[in-house]
Amino acid sequence: MTNTFTATVLGSPRIGPNRELKKAVEGYWAGRVDADSLADTARRLREDTWTGQSAAGLDSIPVNTFSYYDQMLDTAVLLGALPERVTDIEDSLDRYFAAARGSETVAPLEMTKWFDTNYHYLVPEITPQTSFSLDATKPLTEVAEALALGVPARPVVIGPITFLVLSKSVEPGARLLDRVDELVPLYAELLRLLRAAGAEWVQLDEPALVADRTPDEIAIAARVYQQLAGESDRPSILVASYFGSLGDALPALAGTDVEGIAVDLVAGSDTLATVSALRDKVVVAGVVDGRNIWRTDLDGALATLGTLLGTAGSVAVSTSCSLLHVPYTLDAETGIDAVLRSWLAFGSEKVQEIRTLATALTDGRDSVAGEFTAARAARDTRAGDPRLHDGTVRARLDQVRRAGVHRATPEDRRVAQRDLDLPVLPTTTIGSYPQTSRIRVARAALRRGEIDAAEYDRRMRDEISEVVALQEKLDIDVLVHGEPERNDMVQYFAEQLDGFVATDNGWVQSYGSRCVRPPILFGDVQRTRPMTVDWITYAQSLTRRPVKGMLTGPVTILAWSFVRDDQPLVDSADQVALAIRDETVDLQGAGIRIIQVDEPALRELLPLRAAEQPAYLDWAVGAFRLATSGVADSTQIHTHLCYSEFGEVIGAIAGLDADVTSIEAARSHMEVLDDLNSIGFDLGVGPGVYDIHSPRVPSVDEIATSLREALDAVPVQRLWVNPDCGLKTRGTAEVEQSLNNLVAAAKRVRAEL
Ligand code: GLN
Ligand code: ZN
Repeated sequence: MTNTFTATVLGSPRIGPNRELKKAVEGYWAGRVDADSLADTARRLREDTWTGQSAAGLDSIPVNTFSYYDQMLDTAVLLGALPERVTDIEDSLDRYFAAARGSETVAPLEMTKWFDTNYHYLVPEITPQTSFSLDATKPLTEVAEALALGVPARPVVIGPITFLVLSKSVEPGARLLDRVDELVPLYAELLRLLRAAGAEWVQLDEPALVADRTPDEIAIAARVYQQLAGESDRPSILVASYFGSLGDALPALAGTDVEGIAVDLVAGSDTLATVSALRDKVVVAGVVDGRNIWRTDLDGALATLGTLLGTAGSVAVSTSCSLLHVPYTLDAETGIDAVLRSWLAFGSEKVQEIRTLATALTDGRDSVAGEFTAARAARDTRAGDPRLHDGTVRARLDQVRRAGVHRATPEDRRVAQRDLDLPVLPTTTIGSYPQTSRIRVARAALRRGEIDAAEYDRRMRDEISEVVALQEKLDIDVLVHGEPERNDMVQYFAEQLDGFVATDNGWVQSYGSRCVRPPILFGDVQRTRPMTVDWITYAQSLTRRPVKGMLTGPVTILAWSFVRDDQPLVDSADQVALAIRDETVDLQGAGIRIIQVDEPALRELLPLRAAEQPAYLDWAVGAFRLATSGVADSTQIHTHLCYSEFGEVIGAIAGLDADVTSIEAARSHMEVLDDLNSIGFDLGVGPGVYDIHSPRVPSVDEIATSLREALDAVPVQRLWVNPDCGLKTRGTAEVEQSLNNLVAAAKRVRAEL
């Protein structure tokens, strides 16, 4: 086989090792940075990434994985599929950002989760009028830049199947995949252009093929790739899958004349040996986890690679997916102890691992013996570290699991909670109040050591007392403390729990310029002291109305952290649940009668394949119930979910068995209540009556209308009145007006009963 490569990654982070791109892009939006200097920053970041990977010994380097905002949006630009409403914006960059973020006059594209990751992509809108056309400027520019630097560039583009499957059809009921023949000539032309520009390989990403696909969809994919492979004057084609197994799509793709297939050997479990058609393919073997931060078991990976040698035409070592999902480098971390650090590999360390494995594969393990020894030593210390095997935690968990997680029936709980003495249609909020600049200033001052913990505490208490006073003035029934002390709803807890470590600079892109810094869950989880009790009891001391305790649920804490890969997720989830359970018990002991355990990420961790979903939902619901069943029946448990299209998780929502569930509904007109009725849901429910994602203040009439609509679907005893999410991103003035109208609407509808 000619023209092959041996060591690569499927994609690279792009936000910048110190979030340079975030700063430049946000500067551009604010008018502080001009287009030229933004382009300059972007080009420098690309160059640094490519030359770094090249110097580290990768012999095929992904380009066009850079993005100012999102790769799906880039693909919409590539294929001429931006929505009509932005097309008359003259400047191409402003048009691009308008599609991403909206402007005063146009609504942005919708955003949604990229498979089961915490990255969000923009959903292209395809209408019957969309007429696709190729604009290959971006990939061609990046190829030219890379080749000029002597970098062996492999342009990466989202493939036609995934592009259509992930896009949204504006025409209801239309299957977008049926329009794939309109895209094939564009991809064919793109291949020609890339070849002419000097690219030897092109990578077409088809992660949609690791989710459940019908035989017909798989047949379409195979036909499309056979057609593209039949084009002349093209680069070699690598079809890249990631985030799971290809299943039936693997033999289908292998049966085409594409030259390479990338498989995820971390999340996936395809048996490649049975696919004889791989004998003349380059198999790009994703043995280094692109989604998690653990150091690779080099011996294990090498064994996998060795087996593949007998199956594939040739083998290239790679990450399981793009490095977009992990931080740049461990070099930036100073706060992680040396032992723990030796167990980790971020982006650049993973590139090193790939180089090591590729060398071992060709020259033998002895040629890189030092690397293997170090990896083995790290593995050994990790396996033996007492922080990962806390007998006390494990014994307690066993005991709680054995005792079972039961609460009384919903009806009995309602009786036990009657003395809360709430009016019908009780009003409440989801937890956070606006994170004012005062709060951010205090947090920064504390971090820089300009104020001490006591002063920080005092300032946070001031915030809490203001929020409590505001809620009393607004006449809200169930109050919250406002969450001023929380930087983030997961990190706040991770910082206080044993078994987690926070990074200094482990930023990962979440969407656009937004980055998150997921904590690392490395060991057995233990709560050493109450985490929220002081704040909540302080808030409660200021009012006679009930104040809701506010906790993050175990599934969400896991979903937004890097998790252990040395034990089943359910074990980590239950350990976190046990810590949350301890907190609920302490809150109850301190006189708190209502406790909310947020699970906005419950749906996010749902496996891509239907066959794996019931088992997931089982343990996810189990962990929530473990967390919330330690309290008395008289303690009211709330939960909050950040979405309204439940889909496969609808049964699980009933399974959580929370006394009250608040959900997003403002944007979906209460349809969600019908969904809940369809499964016989009979607990309290607070369908959000206004959309907090917009600065618009809803009128009393509007909210009252929503409530009357909700009352058509839910008996009055079960209905709660609340916004559809936390208020932390909103301004104080609009929050006050909106909540004022919310309370007025509740009173109006109560009077009509
Ligand atoms: N209690 C959290 C808040 O109000 C919930 C956030 C969320 O739903 N993501 O901010
Ligand atoms: Zn929410």
